Parts: sequence; structure tokens; C-alpha cells
Amino acid sequence: MGEFVNVTELFGCDVFNDAVMQERLPKKVYKELKKTIEDGKELSLEVADVVAHEMKEWAIEKGATHFSHWFQPLTGVTAEKHDAFITAPMESGRVLMSFSGKELIKGEPDASSFPSGGLRATFEARGYTTWDCTSPAFVRHDAAGGTLCIPTAFCSYTGEALDQKTPLLRSMEAVNTQALRLLRLFGNTTSKKVVPSVGAEQEYFLVDKEKWLQRKDLTYTGRTLFGAMPPKGQEMDDHYLGTIRQRISGYMKEVNEECWKLGITAKTQHNEVAPAQHELAPIYAPANIAADHNQMMMRILKKVASRHGMRCLLHEKPFAGINGSGKHNNWSLTTDDGINLLDPGKTPHENIQFLLVLTCILKAVDEHADLLRESASDVGNDLRLGGNEAPPAVISVYLGEQLQDVLDQLISTGTAVRSKTGEMLQTGVKTLPDFMKDATDRNRTSPFAFTGNKFEFRMVGSRDSISACNVVLNTIAAEVFREACDVLESAPDFEMAVHDLIKKNAIEHQRIVFNGNGYAPEWAEEAERRGLPNITSMVDAIPALTSEKAVKLFESFGVFTRAELESRAEIQYEIYAKAVNIEARTMLDIAGKQIIPAVIKYETVLAQSLNAVKAAGDFDVSVQNDLLRKSSKLLKETREAMDALAMLTDQASSMQEGRERAVFYRTKIMPAMQALRSPVDKLEMIVDKTMWPMPSYGDLIFEV
Ligand code: ADP
Ligand code: MG
Repeated sequence: MGEFVNVTELFGCDVFNDAVMQERLPKKVYKELKKTIEDGKELSLEVADVVAHEMKEWAIEKGATHFSHWFQPLTGVTAEKHDAFITAPMESGRVLMSFSGKELIKGEPDASSFPSGGLRATFEARGYTTWDCTSPAFVRHDAAGGTLCIPTAFCSYTGEALDQKTPLLRSMEAVNTQALRLLRLFGNTTSKKVVPSVGAEQEYFLVDKEKWLQRKDLTYTGRTLFGAMPPKGQEMDDHYLGTIRQRISGYMKEVNEECWKLGITAKTQHNEVAPAQHELAPIYAPANIAADHNQMMMRILKKVASRHGMRCLLHEKPFAGINGSGKHNNWSLTTDDGINLLDPGKTPHENIQFLLVLTCILKAVDEHADLLRESASDVGNDLRLGGNEAPPAVISVYLGEQLQDVLDQLISTGTAVRSKTGEMLQTGVKTLPDFMKDATDRNRTSPFAFTGNKFEFRMVGSRDSISACNVVLNTIAAEVFREACDVLESAPDFEMAVHDLIKKNAIEHQRIVFNGNGYAPEWAEEAERRGLPNITSMVDAIPALTSEKAVKLFESFGVFTRAELESRAEIQYEIYAKAVNIEARTMLDIAGKQIIPAVIKYETVLAQSLNAVKAAGDFDVSVQNDLLRKSSKLLKETREAMDALAMLTDQASSMQEGRERAVFYRTKIMPAMQALRSPVDKLEMIVDKTMWPMPSYGDLIFEV
């Protein structure tokens, strides 16, 4: 059995965290750096030099030979460029290990190879990475040896954000400023900072590596493009929270240890609904750290899978007809002295500050539902949202029984006078302890659910960065708080004004609240009656980024300029078209080189059998006949669908990049892909399994 793991010793051992800084840095330097981290004070080069030197010494002790500015460009994955610490003074013939303050705080990767959506054309190719000292540096160990990774933001020469982190940091500042204003109005004079706290639950699939290698669709696109349903799917509900098998347990153990070493608080793990699907959740952290940690976690999930002869699939919908994967983004606002603005307390109806924050957020989500929806859009998520497992594509807020009751009171009488409380849970078994139930049950179908003291945004895709949705959440919260403060600060009677504002928000935005079953078809109709947007695809979601409403919102807080928003929209269209194009070409490749030859072989065998059996005497060959007829027909259909798809992809390749092309991929190419898949999946059910050129769904998800 595995060796004993001392978690407290292991935790953060590869992180240049506060404890290490305190121990290693001269007192004065430590204090200066803390001022930068906590109060955003500018960092002097002298201080940076000392920090860099100590960081390097520490990293070398941890086995690092290189350092890397680690950043999150708009490709959806992280990027890094490695430099060795060595410098070679002239003539000595030896090398020294060095790392300067300048190297710590600034890097210059060539920006022209990263997506910039038009920003590149108008501005210089030069780009800068700058140290985000609020997210700790760490040493990562892999085949390349040890690398000191420095979390950074990535901007163009003229300061336009080219990454996920820059707007996230800007939005955190925006919500901090406005939330503090609000707290001051309620007499709080002690809190110095309000930070968005985020805990991201990560779902993933594990499949066997050998089988994965035999599926070109998985290797090229991350999802299966063909595949008939196995006789058994997830209908027995026997996987969710089921006993974790040994191979998977061994994997999870190693994932946890790798996470802990890097200071990621991996906490909860379990089997998910679909066979071969699992989940890992850390304890929440400040939004930018949570976003960094989630990127690191995804990398660890993949790396460790490889070591265990498996592949980790982070795609949102690896298998049609089987639950996809998401990332639940738990979000709240917490002060530096530990107050959670979303904590209702025991008697929410008396908690005026909470009611104001809550109704402000209802307003924010109602007014910017389109932006939230866009923030959760990615190519894979299109196949998941609106399906019967994931949250529907309509944004609504779940409040639960207790808060709904308070809201109803506010709407009908203007004041809330009571809060429903939880009752005793009685199991009827003497030896089981009775305890107080929560005042509210859970709802798993809501895209934006209040869960006790936080909101859980469940739309984000499993492969996507959580930055975009948190940028939106932080900024829309900042906007409603600003509006509230503008009203309340100038009100002659504060109590009255708060009361009126809560009531106004509750009445005007009650349409966004929905506590029922989000999967029910009636909800889509009801949502339409309420005028809530139902945006079913990424391509249709993208325009929300550049609406006048969005530009005004983001520009007023300095989170995005109009040019940055336009560039992001361009990038999204490009990403969509490129990803679908790769899928279409992969289908053509597989169908042409694997499926058609396999079916022809199978038909040859059938024909030979037919002739042989006939020649042997007066025997029945109706089965061979029937199968031959069916497969020939499907083979022809396959070929025709291939030709149609090939023609459309040719047509697309001559189109200009941009919205129109993305729309073409969505409306023309996606259906053509489905038309090709359909006969192939039927063929899979007919053709001799030993002749089928790739592992089936059943092989993939039940034999890990
Ligand atoms: P649930 O069972 O409702 O999903 P959990 O306690 O398992 O709740 O939490 C899920 C995620 O939410 C975890 O990452 C957890 O750390 C995070 N979380 C808990 N409280 C908060 C909070 N106040 N703000 C943000 N995230 C939170
Ligand atoms: Mg949850």
C-alpha cells in the first residue's frame, strides 16, 4: 500500500507563499511587498531585485533550473516561455545563476503569435507579461525538470489586455471599490478590502490511453465524433457517488498530492453521473488565484492520467447522449476581515444589508444575462447547454424556499417580517442523531443558484477558463453597487431609501427568479413569456460582448475598452470556426480512411458467405442478404454525406474570418456533420465488432 502522506508538510511545499517570503525576505522588503500585494502599492525595482534573488535561491533549492512567465492568452490554454537562470560572464568560462527584479516583473513574449482579434493589426506585435504578485509563484516539476513559474498578466505594447487575467484583476478592483462604498454606508469602518471568492468544481472523464489512441476524433478534437450508444448508459444512476475503483483511487491520490504541493486546496472528489466521469473541487480562494489554480489543476489532471495509462478528457461533451462536463463557479464577496456579503444569517428578513446585496445581484443578473451567457460560451459547451443534463441555456436565479418567501413578502407588502426556518430532520431511527435541516432544499437544474452563502454559476464549460465569467460577475456587481451607493449616499433618510431600493429591485427583477425544474420544456416557454433571453449557441452569444450596454458597463469601470471587447468578439468567432473546421475534417478523415474501408471489408465477407452458403446447397441466406442490403445503403449514405460535408468545408475555407463564417459553420457545417454521423453510427450497430476500426462507447466508458 502507498506510503503515509503528511498533508500539512506536503501542502504548499513548492509554493513561494507568504510563510516562505516572511522567512526569506529581509523584514523591510517583506513589508514593502505586502503593501503591494494587499494595497496595490507600486513595487520599486530595488524591492523587486531582492525578491527575485530570494525567489531564485529558493527555487534552485527546490530543483529549478529555469524560470517562466506563466500566462493565460486567449487561446484557452496557458502559455509559458522558459529561460534558464544561467548567465555567462565574459571570459570566465563558467556560468552563474541569476534572476533580476526586472526579469521577475516583466517579460517580452512575441504577442503576434497569440490571438489578438484585430488589436494586432493596429498595434505593435510587441507584448509584455507582468508579474501578478497577488498570486504566488511556484516550482513545477515535470520531464523538463524544475521550473519556477511566475503568474503574469499579458498585455500589448499599448496596454490592451491580451489575456484572461488582466480584465479579471481589473474587475476585482472595480467590485472592491463599489462594495466597500456600500459597506461604509452600513456603518462598516473596519473592512479594508472586498475580494470575490471563487471555488470552481471541475468535472472530467477518464479513459484508457490505448483506446484513446485508437480514436482519432478524441486525439484531434477532444470529443468523439462518431459512436453508437452502448446498451447501458447512465440510466441506472449507479455511478454517481459510487465506490471509486482502485485504478481511479490511485489516480486521485496522486492528483491530490500534486495539487497540495502547489498550494491548491483539492478537497472534494467523487464519481459523477456518467460512467467514467468524476469531479474534483478545491476550497475557494480569491478569484484570480482560483483561476490560476484551476488552470494548474487541469494540467495536473492530464499529466497524472498519462502516468496511469489513462487520458483525462476535459471536453464539455466527449460522448453524445451521455452527460457532459462543466465547471461550477461558486462565487461570493468576502471582506479582508472575514465578512461574507452573501451570508444571510439566521434571519435574512432582518439582514437589510444582505437583502440589498441580494436584490442588487438579481438586478445585475437580469440586466446582463446575455453577458453571463456569453462568458460561459465555448465550442464544446454548445453541445451541452440546453441538453437535459446541464443547466438550460436560459439564465435564471434559484433562491430557494426561504429567500423566495422573504422576496414574496417584500414584493407584496414592502417589508419582510419573518424567515422560514429549517425543521428537525427525523429519521425515525433512535440511534441516528436528529439535526436541523437547512431552510432550503437544493436545486440542481438552475444555472445560477443561491447555495447558502454564495451563488453557484453552473454554466461554465469544463475546459474553459473561469476568468471570463468572474470578470462579468465582478463587473455587473460593481455596477449595481455603484448605482445603489449613488442613490443611498445622497438620500436624506438612509433607512427609508434602502427599504425602497430593496423593494424596487425585487419588484423590477423578479422575472429572473425561477425555483422550478430548469430542464422542463415548459420552462423555456415560460422564460420566453418573461422576456428572458434563450441563447442557444456560442455564435449567437458573442454579440453580447459588443452591445452598447456592455461597452458602457465595461468602459465605465476600466475593465475593457471598446477595442478590447471587439477584439475578443473577433477571437471568439475565429475560435469557433477553427474548432468546428477541425472537427469536420477529422470526420472526413475517419470516414474516408477507416469507416468506409472497414464496411467494404465487412460487405466482402458477407458477399463471400452469401455465395459460399448458396453454393453449399439450398440454405437460407436471407440474413446475409438483408445485412448486405442495409449496409450497402448506409455506405452509400455515408459517402454522400461525406461529399456534402467536404463541399461545405471547401466553401467555408474561402470565406473571410469573422461572424459570417462562424455562422456558416454553425448553421451549415454542424448539421452536415450530424448527417454524416447518423449512417455511420447505424453501421456500427451492424458491422462485425472485430472489424470496426475503433473502440466503441462501451469500450471507452465502461472499461477504464
Ligand atoms: P455544494 O455542495 O453546495 O456544491 P460545497 O461546500 O461542496 O458546496 O462547495 C462547493 C465549492 O464552493 C467549493 O469549492 C467551496 O470551497 C466553494 N465555496 C464554499 N463557500 C464559498 C463562498 N463563500 N464563496 C465562494 N465559494 C465557496
Ligand atoms: Mg456544488
